[in-house]
Amino acid sequence: HAKASGKNDFSFFNTTMNAGALAQLNLLQDLRRALQQDEFVLYYQPKFAANGGQIVGAEALIRWRHPTRGLLAPGAFIGLAEKSGLIVEIDSWVLKQACQQMGEWYAEGYLDWCVAVNVSALQLSQPRFVDSVQAALEQNALPAKHLIIEITETMAMNDVDASIKVLERLANIGVGVSIDDFGSGHSSLLYLKNLPVNELKIDRGFVNELQHGAADEAIISAIVDLGQALGLRIVAEGVETAEQQAFLSSMKCDVLQGFLLGHPLPAEDFIGKLAEKRTAS
Ligand code: C2E
Ligand code: MG
Ligand code: MG
Ligand code: MG
Repeated sequence: HAKASGKNDFSFFNTTMNAGALAQLNLLQDLRRALQQDEFVLYYQPKFAANGGQIVGAEALIRWRHPTRGLLAPGAFIGLAEKSGLIVEIDSWVLKQACQQMGEWYAEGYLDWCVAVNVSALQLSQPRFVDSVQAALEQNALPAKHLIIEITETMAMNDVDASIKVLERLANIGVGVSIDDFGSGHSSLLYLKNLPVNELKIDRGFVNELQHGAADEAIISAIVDLGQALGLRIVAEGVETAEQQAFLSSMKCDVLQGFLLGHPLPAEDFIGKLAEKRTAS
């Protein structure tokens, strides 16, 4: 079957592909250009201690400053980037960029917290992944404890033996690991016990549904208990209302993240807000 392997394929695609597939192909070309022309940017969303409210970290979230379509969220391009394999280059850029930014914050005395970077399955499975993490830290004179790698539950469980190996290597160099979207995929509790991770992020879906009944309260309570039994830090993401915040705090979640507490912002705005908060308190 035909592959978009080179320029010569485009005439073929133009005459035979449907509009949807053609749009995907255009998007893929756009994505390649975006990497070359540095059109990606990282936004940072703060994470706060549920108890006390001080900042404990930030999650780096990619955005694409598209020249004609404006600012695009990952939902518009990460799927295709993963399908095409381009995600490896994109995630490498994200890691370097985040570490460079962290290095600046660290040198300026801001960084008494962690920055979390999302990593796709394909990136995690690259043989040189852990080496590249270590290199990015060293190049920016950054202690490893300031970096967290977020992987999804589904990724971790997909090939558990391979995941354990990579996660152990990350733990060995001192980088934290977080299981993202926990509860949304297939998880084996037996495997979870064996994964060297530091943090569970309760999937936004459960937090979202909190006002609609007891089931989601029970699920969150069970995840918190499980995480505590395993010695993991529990993060709730997608906190949008004061009611959710109050419930999650009462459930003994450790960390809260969500639009109620702070939206993802460009680095300068993020650090500006933080400085503002510090002088106000
Ligand atoms: P995620 O890692 O679970 O990130 C959390 C998502 O929830 C972010 O969406 C964030 O903006 C959004 N969010 C945070 N608080 C709230 C809230 O209170 N309400 C609602 N409705 N949403 C909230 P975003 O930035 O669109 O990212 C979506 C997903 O794209 C991420 O989910 C992550 O899986 C992926 N992603 C983002 N950046 C990267 C990256 O650099 N590399 C890779 N491989 N994936 C990334
Ligand atoms: Mg994440
Ligand atoms: Mg998540
Ligand atoms: Mg996600």
